[in-house]
Amino acid sequence: MQKTSKSSLILLYRALFLSTVLALVAILTYFALPDRKVRILPGFGHESHLFFDGEKGGLTTANWVNQPAFHFTCTATTPVTETPYCGLSINFHKFENGIDYSNFQHIELKIRYHGNNHRLRLKLHNFKPAHTNGDTQETLQGLEVSILASDANKLLVIDNRGWGNFSQGSTVDIGIDLVPPIAPGTHELQLEYVEIHGKRFKAESWYLGVALLWLLSNLFFITRHLMQQEKRIRNDSQRLSTLALYSNDLQQESQHYKLLSNTDPLTGALNRNGFATDMGQRSPAGKMESNTTLMIIDIDHFKRINDSYGHDAGDVVLRETAKIIHNNTRAADRFVRWGGEEFVLYCENTNPQQALLIAEKIRLSIESANILYNSAAIPMTVSVGIGVALASEDFDHLFKRTDQALYKAKNMGRNCIVLSDTNDK
Ligand code: GH3
Ligand code: MG
Ligand code: MG
Repeated sequence: MQKTSKSSLILLYRALFLSTVLALVAILTYFALPDRKVRILPGFGHESHLFFDGEKGGLTTANWVNQPAFHFTCTATTPVTETPYCGLSINFHKFENGIDYSNFQHIELKIRYHGNNHRLRLKLHNFKPAHTNGDTQETLQGLEVSILASDANKLLVIDNRGWGNFSQGSTVDIGIDLVPPIAPGTHELQLEYVEIHGKRFKAESWYLGVALLWLLSNLFFITRHLMQQEKRIRNDSQRLSTLALYSNDLQQESQHYKLLSNTDPLTGALNRNGFATDMGQRSPAGKMESNTTLMIIDIDHFKRINDSYGHDAGDVVLRETAKIIHNNTRAADRFVRWGGEEFVLYCENTNPQQALLIAEKIRLSIESANILYNSAAIPMTVSVGIGVALASEDFDHLFKRTDQALYKAKNMGRNCIVLSDTNDK
């Protein structure tokens, strides 16, 4: 029982340990999760336009080469010292539904450039109502990255530093232009593509999910363990009560067998074994207390009874005789069927006078008993030998003396009582 509950506890510890290790692995796995990328250009709903200062009296002009491919040219006629501008602006009115761009970590893009300007500029604007003047979708929240013209035509990776929340419905503005001073001549530009890269899940959502799974699995393991324990305790207590019943039965059975092994089944008197056990408990050294009296009561001519009335009648006589003797004894006396038709009565604290009185009462009761067998009265008598223990006399010696007294009684013609002579050996 203890062993199983211990192993179930070990299993629980293992499960908790394993779930904790798995949770840690899951937390670390976040960093290994594959990136998610969304190509926002070309594609998605947008509006693109070119801007140049020639419109406002400046010296630059811009023309589309291929508008859907964001391919255009800027031409600056003379060297310009002021702050001219020429570029492309793409405005998203309808951004993709269902992607939270705040989770993206970097932007990947490719700008093709052919010309001799020193620097190009990438502008990313995020619409935030708080940063606008209300009736325009121009934004103040943004990121501007200046790129060396020599770095164009390469893959550009820009960190999402503070670019922040490209939330659903936001109007986002992306643009490229030439960084002044603008070199004279023609500049060919194309924004080939823009991709946003990031994790598939937000770190806090991932960690929250892992923590929830960890808690739920631990809760499951602990609940299962407690339920198993409860079931085990119920089974054990059932088993214990069954065992208690068995043990009770066994105790009763053992008492029954003890009684059988100590008792004569025909008369219910103690047998020699029962008496020896009793004597062992009372007087282990086998020495008698003075005033301990022994009586040997022997049925006279019992053989004749058997012969005349049959063995069954003999048994009835034995039973009735035992009953009469038993009725004349006290609770403290020991009544033994010594063998055949011979009974022993062992009485402590009984002086010779008292013993003679008891023996006479028994003798008379038996003589006058009307024992019937098959309606026939069986006349019977007993002879009694009485021995009263001397100080420190052992049982065997006392028995021998008492037996001699019985022998005398038989010789005296039976149906009588003889008190042992203390001088008898
Ligand atoms: P005495 O007066 O000298 O004692 O003569 P007795 O016939 O009583 O004694 P004896 O020892 O000669 O015979 C005893 C008989 O008791 C012999 C035996 O068959 C019989 N007997 C012994 N045990 C039992 C028993 O359990 N049932 C019956 N029916 N008879 C038994
Ligand atoms: Mg006899
Ligand atoms: Mg006898």
